[in-house]
Amino acid sequence: MTTRRVLVNGAGGFIGSHLVKRLKREGAWVRGVDLKRPEFSPTEADEFIVGDLREPEVVRAAVDGVEHVYQLAADMGGAGYIFTGEHDAGVMHNSAMINLNTLEFGRLAGVRRFFYSSSACIYPEHNQLDPDDPDCEESSAYPAAPDSEYGWEKLFSERLYGAYMRNHGVEVRVARYHNIFGPEGTWRGGKEKAPAALCRKVAEAADGDAIEIWGDGEQTRSFLYIDECVEATRRLMESDFTGPVNVGSDEMVTINDLARLAAEIAGKQITLEHIEGPLGVRGRNSHNALIEQELGWRPAAPLRAGLQTTYEWIAEQVAAATTST
Ligand code: NAD
Repeated sequence: MTTRRVLVNGAGGFIGSHLVKRLKREGAWVRGVDLKRPEFSPTEADEFIVGDLREPEVVRAAVDGVEHVYQLAADMGGAGYIFTGEHDAGVMHNSAMINLNTLEFGRLAGVRRFFYSSSACIYPEHNQLDPDDPDCEESSAYPAAPDSEYGWEKLFSERLYGAYMRNHGVEVRVARYHNIFGPEGTWRGGKEKAPAALCRKVAEAADGDAIEIWGDGEQTRSFLYIDECVEATRRLMESDFTGPVNVGSDEMVTINDLARLAAEIAGKQITLEHIEGPLGVRGRNSHNALIEQELGWRPAAPLRAGLQTTYEWIAEQVAAATTST
């Protein structure tokens, strides 16, 4: 059997760096590309290009000689990054350029299959107003009304991959990720997401302290542990199913519940102080019927297990940052 040659765009990021490790364990030859190397551990890629995927020359070099491309690179962050409006032009321009270049230069170079990481942020805001019953079934994406420019760019790019599949005969696999979290994810600096931010706040707090929560904390979400995300991604890529399909957990919790769970894991008494902040939709949960039917996949472990591992990792980062300052 020949070794498959694979490109991971965004290999310096959270999901990309974990995916590279998994692909290496499976025996693939992996090239990674990113603006930066992974922050928390050395890359396991056979070749790593530090480069900007908005630049055609970088993309031409990246796609040369590979069969499969995982396109994870995007200009993105948590609610504090994508819902304030300050980054809208960059988010749309940068991510669209990456997708346009990857598809065009990829197909010209003979890439056979592309994986594209879309997002739950493509779903219409009006279906996510009820925190107890949000509708994120794949078929509910249209008529489209995402609540952020980040979501609109993802939807545009989903369609772009679909168009290349129809007009240029390339194979595509599209996943809509729902809030992925775990060790070696961004945990400070403004781009971190709720699980990492709450774990950091709890780790930094003393027993009996209060931590700040954006909004009333009753907004609901579900969170998928990184290893589960990588497993679903690999299954989708190896399957005949093109998607788009949700890759997420259907264990829905409020942000207050998530904070309490982090405090319980830490063994600390923490009170929650609700402040104004960017929020996103009122409710969101992954609808997993399609992925169960097509790929036989569902998350293997509960939220608590992944949050425990993530909390421990973030607590170590917080301790190391405190001693180094
Ligand atoms: P991340 O920010 O950690 O990784 C994205 C990587 O893309 C970063 O390392 C960044 O440097 C790189 N990048 C950005 N612009 C680039 C450019 N011009 N050239 C080269 N590299 C560039 O994010 P992540 O959490 O690993 O997410 C991976 C993908 O999954 C993204 O497309 C994201 O939109 C999607 N997604 C993630 C989540 C989640 O919860 N993490 C949810 C939905 C969708």
